[in-house]
Amino acid sequence: MTTAVLGAGLSGLSAGYYLLRRFGKPLTIYEASPRVGGWIRTEGHKDRGFLFEGGPRTIRPKGVAGANTLELIEELDLPIHPIPSSHVAAKNRMLYAKGQVCMLPNSPKGLIRTVPPFTKPLYRALLHDLFTGSTLAKNEDESIYSFTKRRFGKEIADYAISPMICGICAGDAHEISVRFLMETLFENEQKYGGVLKGAFYARFKDKVDEKKPGLFARGEPKLFKQATKEKWAMYGVEDGLEQLPRAMRKYLGEHDVNVQLSSKCSNLTFNGDGARISLRDAEVPVKHVISALPAHQLAAVVGAQHPSLAAQLLEIPYVDVVVVNIQYNSDQLLKHNGFGLLVPPVEKLPILGVIFDSCCFDMAGNTILTVMMGGRWFDQWFGNQPSQKKLRDIAHQHVRQILQIKEEPVFSRVHMLHKCIPQYTVGHKRRVENIRKYIKDYKLPLSVCGAAYDGVGINDVILSARRQVEELPSPSEP
Ligand SMILES: Cc1cc2nc3c(=O)[nH]c(=O)nc-3n(C[C@H](O)[C@H](O)[C@H](O)COP(=O)(O)OP(=O)(O)OC[C@H]3O[C@@H](n4cnc5c(N)ncnc54)[C@H](O)[C@@H]3O)c2cc1C
Repeated sequence: MTTAVLGAGLSGLSAGYYLLRRFGKPLTIYEASPRVGGWIRTEGHKDRGFLFEGGPRTIRPKGVAGANTLELIEELDLPIHPIPSSHVAAKNRMLYAKGQVCMLPNSPKGLIRTVPPFTKPLYRALLHDLFTGSTLAKNEDESIYSFTKRRFGKEIADYAISPMICGICAGDAHEISVRFLMETLFENEQKYGGVLKGAFYARFKDKVDEKKPGLFARGEPKLFKQATKEKWAMYGVEDGLEQLPRAMRKYLGEHDVNVQLSSKCSNLTFNGDGARISLRDAEVPVKHVISALPAHQLAAVVGAQHPSLAAQLLEIPYVDVVVVNIQYNSDQLLKHNGFGLLVPPVEKLPILGVIFDSCCFDMAGNTILTVMMGGRWFDQWFGNQPSQKKLRDIAHQHVRQILQIKEEPVFSRVHMLHKCIPQYTVGHKRRVENIRKYIKDYKLPLSVCGAAYDGVGINDVILSARRQVEELPSPSEP
C-alpha cells in the first residue's frame, strides 16, 4: 500500500517531494484538474516578450520558510530573477488614498515627516505604543485592526495595516487575526505591555533562537546565503512562477512518483488499516493520506464519515478574487515606478490594488499591470456571477483614473478565482489546532497541509508540507 497526496497545488507537490526524500516510493499524488500548480498560473506571450501571472508572482527570501523554498529551488536548478532591496520595485510601494497616489515612506527620514495620506509623522504612532499600556485582559486573539488601532492609532490601522491585509489575503483587517501577521508583536504586548518594549526582548530571544538546530542539517542553502548577501527583497521565476510547479512535477516524474491528473478524490474514508480514496473509476486503498486540498474541499470528501471534522474545516472561510492582467504597447505610461499600489478599504473603491509587473520584471517595452479586485468585498461590489466584460471594464476604468493612463490597453485577461484565499480570521490558530487534534484523537491516517492552515504564501505552503512529512513516524517506529 502506498502513501497518497491529495492535490497537486504547490503544497501537494511539496508534500510529494518531501515524502520521496524521506521515505522513497511508492507514492501517488491525485489532482482533480488536468494540470499541476493550483492557483499558480502563468500565461506566456514569449513572442511579444511579456507574461501574465493569474495568481502569485513573487516570493520573499526571508526567514526559515524563505530559506526552505530556496533550498527547493536550488535542488530543482530553477532559474530565478532576484529583485534586490535597492530596486525600485522593492523600495517604492504606494497607496491610492484621499484622491491621490501616495508614496509610502521607505527610509527612517520618512518617519519624522508628515507624508500623505497620514496627517501626523509616523514616529507619533510609535510614541503612542510606547506610552499606551495594555488595556486588554490577557487575550488569546484579536483582530489585527483592533490591535493596530490600540497600539498605533486609527490612522495606521486604516491606511497602513488594512491595505496590507488586502494585499496579502484580500481580507478585512477587522476580521483577520492579529496572529496572521503580528503574532510575535501581539504576544510581546501581552507579556510586556507594549510592542516596542517587547521588541527589546525579541532581539535578545532571536539571538538565543539562532543557536537552536534548524531545518538545514547541512547548513543554510547556498541560494539563501546568496540572497542574504545580495540583499534580495523578493524574486520571481524565469518564464513565470508556473515553472516552479512544472519543475516539481518533472522532478517527481523522473523519480517515479505518480502524479495522476484529472483524478478528483470524491470521498475519503478511514479504517483500521489505512484509508480509501474514491476516484471516478476506482477505489484506492492507501496507508496514509496527506491532504493538500483547500479546507472546504477536504470537508466535502471526509464529511460522510466525519461530519464533525468537516464542520470544523468549513469554519475556515475563503474569499473570491478577480485578477485582471492588462498589457499596453508602451513602457512610458507610469508616472511612478514601484511594486504597485494598494487601495485602503476606507476609500470604498471596488479594487484592492494594482501590481506594476513591468516595474518588477523586464517585459520588453510593454507596460504590464495586474488589478486585484473583490476579496472580502466581492459580493458587495460585484454581486452574483458578474460578467467578464463588467469586471474588465471596472479594472480598466480604475487604472485609467488612478494612474491617469490615457492609452487604451491592447490586451487583457480576466481570471475569476473562486474561493482562492483562506481567511485567517480571529481564532484561526485554535481552529487549526482543533482540526489536527481531532485527527490525532481519532487516529486517522491523515495529515493536512497547504494554504488553509499554516500561512497563505508560497513559502508557507511549502514549509507546511515539509513539517507534516517530518511529523510522520519513521518506518522503524511502530
Ligand atoms: C491571486 C493570488 C495572488 C497570490 N500572490 C502571491 C504572491 O505573490 N506570493 C506568495 O507567496 N503567495 C501568493 N499567493 C498565495 C499562493 O498562491 C498560495 O498560497 C498557494 O498557491 C496555495 O497552494 P496550495 O497548494 O496550498 O493550494 P492550491 O493552489 O489551492 O492547490 C490545491 C489543489 O488541490 C486540487 N484539488 C481540489 N479538490 C480536489 C480533490 N477533491 N481531489 C484532488 N485534487 C483536488 C486543486 O485543483 C488544486 O490543484 C497568491 C494567491 C492568489 C490567489
